[in-house]
Amino acid sequence: MPAAALAYGGRLRVAGVQKKKAAPPLGSGKPKLTRQGQNAYHTALCIATCSNGKPCSHMACGIVPGTDGKNANAASAVPYCAQHMRNGDSGAVKAIPHPTNKHIGRILIATRDLPKGYRFAYWGTRGRWTPKGENAEFAMEFKPNCGVIDPTPHGGSLMQCAGHPGPDEARNLAWGDESFGTRYDDVVGRELRLCQPVPKGHQVVLNYGADWMKTRPGIPYSNIGTAKYPAPPAARLVRAAGRAALGQVNGTDNASKKQGSGKGKEN
Ligand SMILES: [Zn+2]
Repeated sequence: MPAAALAYGGRLRVAGVQKKKAAPPLGSGKPKLTRQGQNAYHTALCIATCSNGKPCSHMACGIVPGTDGKNANAASAVPYCAQHMRNGDSGAVKAIPHPTNKHIGRILIATRDLPKGYRFAYWGTRGRWTPKGENAEFAMEFKPNCGVIDPTPHGGSLMQCAGHPGPDEARNLAWGDESFGTRYDDVVGRELRLCQPVPKGHQVVLNYGADWMKTRPGIPYSNIGTAKYPAPPAARLVRAAGRAALGQVNGTDNASKKQGSGKGKEN
């Protein structure tokens, strides 16, 4: 064995065989895609995705469609392109009327498996908070002292259709840290993120707060999940199911020990 090879612990290294990694070009320090496969905010590209999971290739111009279907030409900081402002993130979710309970209104369904951390924008017209206003139940705080987000004039602002969890259910969507726009903008938004993965066909569920049902007197508080469109179970039910499964395992183990099989798990 050559002396040079011995110097490397016996493994022969030949100069030039091991290639150095090319240095990344300037300005490319941040990844352009999030781990969920969406365009990162700093790219100024639309954060929506296609039905095959690929990110939208258009700039997030935030042009708000007019109510008559024409382009109102009002730019905003909402990170969707004109098409996805018009249709919502239709490659990821769709809004449908609740199949069995008309009181619930529309619900939001994942149209493909969505990973934890997937981002949406809850967006709409910035306005004053009027507790008795017609759209009060959908208006969400934008930033402190900066008004509220009213999504109701915008059919493409799909996140307003996310259902509120019933007594035996939990949310899978939570408010993120980002907000889009300033207190002077007409159209603004806030980030929403999935706090757990959502399988295709399951509901995307947002907790609108403890007061949600108080604003809807006369409507029974019920679960929104159905066999076809499930909603996540409440944490207490998940814990109870875990305990039951554990009890079953321990019970089986004890039984097998009694039978002297010797395969039971040691406690
Ligand atoms: Zn887009």
